[in-house]
Amino acid sequence: MKGKVFLGSLIVVVALGFVFSPCLKAGASETKAFTPKMGNVFVKEISGVKFILQDTVQNAPHNRELKLYVESLGKPLERIIISHSHPHHWVGLEMFYGAPVYATGEVIHEIREQGNQMLLGLKKRFGEKMIPYAKVVIPSFFIYAGEERIDGVLFHYIRPNPKIYGNVLWIEFPEQKTLIHHHLAYVGMHAPMPPIPPRIEMLKKLKGKGYQWIMPGHAMAMGPEFFDRAIEYYNATLRIVKESPDVKTAKEKLIKAYPKYGAVFLLDMMLPAFYKKR
Ligand SMILES: [Zn+2]
Ligand SMILES: [Zn+2]
Repeated sequence: MKGKVFLGSLIVVVALGFVFSPCLKAGASETKAFTPKMGNVFVKEISGVKFILQDTVQNAPHNRELKLYVESLGKPLERIIISHSHPHHWVGLEMFYGAPVYATGEVIHEIREQGNQMLLGLKKRFGEKMIPYAKVVIPSFFIYAGEERIDGVLFHYIRPNPKIYGNVLWIEFPEQKTLIHHHLAYVGMHAPMPPIPPRIEMLKKLKGKGYQWIMPGHAMAMGPEFFDRAIEYYNATLRIVKESPDVKTAKEKLIKAYPKYGAVFLLDMMLPAFYKKR
């Protein structure tokens, strides 16, 4: 019975900023085979709910492909959830005109206050061709911490400590034992986010919850091995920072220890924070 209720339900998570939950009641419609080529794509079906993660950089070519992908699913776009205000999680939202956009009050406030500035910054950095968007779409529906059932699927909205993670929304799907989180840890890319010790504590706590599928803000989605791999990277970072006199040495050692990890540029942005007080 449960399987029937969930059949056809679909959650699409894009660049981890968006969660699309197309309506189950729309009935069967044809789905043309269309596979996105841009970004990392992970698809996992658990208890009749299909989770699709497309981690893109949110420029126009990526967004256009994303839109085609969503359309190819042949289901109405029921809801877009913006997890936090970083612009690569919402730029281009106007392409999905008409879909209700949800966020927490803090995120709505941040986008309203700083959205124009962030959009201009992206245009300056990547050019009008890549970021051709004219306006900031401010989410118009509030999301609160707690549980909500949408189309038979239970969503549990979690707001972790903003002093550590910023104003982000995590979503747990208790019945599918799936977790979407942000600013906690990534596997497959360099992002040593300070402070590390409370993040390791959180990873250990979450590891005990028995999740089957974990979708972090970027990089790779994976099973429960996510936690050990993320903890290992963080421990390595702490060790390397301790034994390295400066950012440059620490960066070289981290790249050597994780040669396959992407987003090396983030090391230049994040490692200096570990040397500030020394
Ligand atoms: Zn972010
Ligand atoms: Zn992000």
